[in-house]
Amino acid sequence: MTILSNPEFHNHELVAVHSDETTGLQAIIAIHNTKLGPATGGCRMFPYANEAEAIKDVLRLSRGMTYKSALADLPLGGGKSVIIGNPKHDKNPALMHAMGDFINSLGGRYIGAEDSGTSVADLAKMAERTAYVSGINSKAKHGGDPSPVTAYGVYVGIMATIEQLGYRELSGRSIAIQGVGNVGYHLCKLLTEAGAEVFVSDINSDNLARAKALGATVVENDSIIGIPVDVFAPCAMGAIINQFSVDKLRCQAVAGAANNQLASPEMADQLFDKGILYAPDYVINAGGIIEVYYQNQGIFDEEKINRHVDTIGTKLRDIYTRSSKENVACQKIADALAEKKFRSPTNKDLAA
Ligand code: NAD
Repeated sequence: MTILSNPEFHNHELVAVHSDETTGLQAIIAIHNTKLGPATGGCRMFPYANEAEAIKDVLRLSRGMTYKSALADLPLGGGKSVIIGNPKHDKNPALMHAMGDFINSLGGRYIGAEDSGTSVADLAKMAERTAYVSGINSKAKHGGDPSPVTAYGVYVGIMATIEQLGYRELSGRSIAIQGVGNVGYHLCKLLTEAGAEVFVSDINSDNLARAKALGATVVENDSIIGIPVDVFAPCAMGAIINQFSVDKLRCQAVAGAANNQLASPEMADQLFDKGILYAPDYVINAGGIIEVYYQNQGIFDEEKINRHVDTIGTKLRDIYTRSSKENVACQKIADALAEKKFRSPTNKDLAA
C-alpha cells in the first residue's frame, strides 16, 4: 500500500488515516486541493476488500471534487472521506461520533457530506461532534439529500447534449439509464415527464419497479450499455466505460451522474475517436455539491440554486464547442478549464 507513489496520488495536500480502537472506526480523509476554499466532499462508507482499494477510491474521489467544484464556480476545494465498513451491518452512533471527531481534528480543512453508504442521519450524528459537515439542515428541501438536485443537473446536461446532437427537445429521444437509485430515479422522472423514451437497468428489483411505474422500459443490466439510444446515462457505479465495454456502446452520447465513469484517461480519447459525445462526469453531476454549498451559506432558495445548476448546461455547451473546434476530447477540455481555475484562482473564482 503506497500513498506518495500511488498512481492515484496527484499532489494531494493531505491524506489522513484514522483508527479508533473503541468504536472500530477505520477511516481515511483525503484533501486534494484547497486553493479555492475548504475541501468539501462526501463521506463514503463501503466494505472495501482491502486498504489499497480504500486509498485508491479516496484519492480519486477527492481529486474529482477539486475539478467538480472549480468548474461549478464554487469557492470550494476538493476532498473526500471513506469509512471502511459495511453500511448495512457496521453502522452505529458511536462510529459516526468517532468519524465526527476525526473530521473535527482537521479544523475545517475538510467538510464532509452525505455519500454512498452514509445518510443524512449519519451526518447528523457526526455533526454532534463537529461543525464541519454539511447537507443536514432541516430547512433544506428533501431533508438535505442532494440527489434530486444532482438529477436536475444531469437533466440540464442531457438537454445541452441532445442540442449538440442536433435535436431541439427530449420528445422522441431515447435515453438508457444504468442504475435507478436516488439520482437515477429522479432523472428517470424528469426525462419521462419531458416525453423521452427511457430504458432502465438495475440490480435492485424495487428500484426497477418504481422506474417502470414512471413509464420506463426495463432491460437486462448486461445489455443496457449496448442498446441503440441517443444518450447512455450511467447512474450506478464508476469505471463503466472501460476497455471491455467501450466497443459495446451504440449511443451518440454518454451523459450521466456516476462519478469516475472513465476507467482510464485513454477512454476519453476512445470515445472521441468513435464520435461519441462525452459529458465529463464531474461537470454534469455537480448539482449536489452546488446545493451543499448554498446550504452551508444558509441559502435554501430553490430558484436560486436551480439557476446555478442551470449553468451546467452552459458549461457543457462551451466544452462541446471547444472540443469540436480544437479536435480534443471533451474530458481534456474540461480538465484544462478546471485546472486553470484551481491552480491560479482569480478573485472572482474565490468569491462565488
Ligand atoms: P444509489 O446508491 O442511490 O443508486 C445507485 C443505483 O445503482 C442503485 O439502485 C443500485 O442498485 C444500482 N446499481 C449498483 N450496482 C449496479 C450495477 N452493477 N448495475 C446496475 N445497477 C447497479 O446512488 P446515487 O446517489 O443515485 O448515485 C448514483 C451515482 O451518481 C454514483 O456513482 C454516485 O457517486 C454519483 N453521484 C451521486 C450524487 C448524489 O447527489 N447522490 C452526486 C454526484 C454523483
